[in-house]
Amino acid sequence: MSTHDQLTFCDPVSRFHRISPPRQSQPEPGLDAELDPAADRGEESYRGTGRLEGRRALITGADSGIGAAVAIAFAREGADVALNYLPEEREDAERVAEIIRAAGRRAILLPADLADVEACRSVVSDAVDQLGGLDALVNNAGKQVSVDRLEDLEDEEWTATFDVNITAIFRVTQAALPHLEAGATIVNTTSIQAYNPSTNLIHYASTKAAINNFTKGMAQQVASRGIRVNAVAPGPIWTPLQVSKGQPQDALPDFGKDTPLGRAGQPTELAPAFVFLSSPESSYVLGETLHVNGGTPTP
Ligand code: NAD
Ligand code: MG
Repeated sequence: MSTHDQLTFCDPVSRFHRISPPRQSQPEPGLDAELDPAADRGEESYRGTGRLEGRRALITGADSGIGAAVAIAFAREGADVALNYLPEEREDAERVAEIIRAAGRRAILLPADLADVEACRSVVSDAVDQLGGLDALVNNAGKQVSVDRLEDLEDEEWTATFDVNITAIFRVTQAALPHLEAGATIVNTTSIQAYNPSTNLIHYASTKAAINNFTKGMAQQVASRGIRVNAVAPGPIWTPLQVSKGQPQDALPDFGKDTPLGRAGQPTELAPAFVFLSSPESSYVLGETLHVNGGTPTP
């Protein structure tokens, strides 16, 4: 799909095809293995340059989409990676683990439902035990279900969205902090929805605004300890989230076409932002939200 052989100089409009995905639906959480067309997580294209050499990373939602692209990039930059995901996503997670191992790095599989408080804690302690420590955390797991009218938004859906998208970030971060030393980094996945909420994603967009705020507050709280906290705000990215109730099916063929670049983003296009914010090169960048959204203006 990508013209990865031309990555030294390429046109961002045409680096990836302007996809028109067919109507399709998967139960939550979707699988990359069944996404049509397949998404590009950088399997063939991402080239590391040792920017995360020896780092020990925990990435939530690392089996597919953006998290998978980040996991692949981190491994090729020299990091060992613990991958959290839901048990039913094992097929996707094992594929990503294979790619990490092919890069000569360790992949630790940690299936767990982060809606559960104990699971948030045990994912961190298992990652620390098996990686021999922790110095990079990526809070990326998220849930998005499109509901047109607030009257139709069930209380359980509201609560579950907050549990997974923001409460789990609090819990995982709280469990991780005692293990993080100066130089460690945290990157949270927020969204353009934090700024431009869609009318069918009121609950989801609210959690993403909360993630931005949490990121900016926490960055200040732990700055003097040498721990940096930042966020990445993706625009429309082609991932299983979109076909597992994340978008109305009728919206899929035009997904991402309303951006200035005129196309949806691919997960691999997010990876460099996470690598930058996790690498020592960004030592003076804290509390920042880095937008990777195809050009839509943000405040
Ligand atoms: P994705 O479906 O590939 O990844 C989301 C992951 O979240 C899943 O793979 C799953 O492992 C994890 N997850 C969901 N519920 C969970 C639970 N209860 N416990 C543990 N893990 C759980 O989709 P994606 O688009 O790559 O999403 C990654 C992040 O990017 C999410 O936070 C999402 O909100 C955010 N985001 C995506 C887009 C986009 O257009 N795709 C845009 C902005 C932000
Ligand atoms: Mg998944």
